[in-house]
Amino acid sequence: MLKQIELTYNFNDLEPYIDELTMITHYTKHHAAYTTNLNTALEKTPELAQKSIEEILSNLSDLSDEALKTALRNNGGGYYNHNLYFSTLSPNGLRHPEGNLLKQIESDFGSFDNLKEKLNAAAATRFGSGWAWLSTDKDGKLSVTSSPNQDNPLFETHGALVPILGIDVWEHAYYLKYKNLRVDYINALYSVLDWDRIATYYKEATTKAL
Ligand code: MN
Repeated sequence: MLKQIELTYNFNDLEPYIDELTMITHYTKHHAAYTTNLNTALEKTPELAQKSIEEILSNLSDLSDEALKTALRNNGGGYYNHNLYFSTLSPNGLRHPEGNLLKQIESDFGSFDNLKEKLNAAAATRFGSGWAWLSTDKDGKLSVTSSPNQDNPLFETHGALVPILGIDVWEHAYYLKYKNLRVDYINALYSVLDWDRIATYYKEATTKAL
């Protein structure tokens, strides 16, 4: 039985950037529902239940059962994506990348500001619901992409790209506070992103095989 990642902060700790009611609804309703629905789908498929969520999503296109594939794509994606999202937020994290990750950002994008510009464009122009991503390949090269709905780079690239940061641009992530102003939400998010956590994901994705 998979469980939502535990938050290391309180629902109101990301104020004023992300409001308490959005956090409560997002974590205890949206993310909880994806998790419950994923567990329901996995209960019926014990051979998959032994695998990690990363393995399941990376190999999803191999499944022949279309209904199961859709259930895992939507709910497995929703489960994994939100674990990543919530765990990279923090009221007191590192607000600027450092060390190897910063070097790689400068090598792949020129500067942290350039990376932010690319991420913001990916997040702002994603039509409808979806995500913007910063991902790495196994050699450590970074890239920015976006996905519709609860898709993600693991699913889209068969695990070749591993996301280390995901910006949720579903309206449920920002509408209570920011209404239609998605760009304001994206800009505010940098005040609560923890680049230390993101660097840890970067290190894990480039030193261990999925
Ligand atoms: Mn969400």
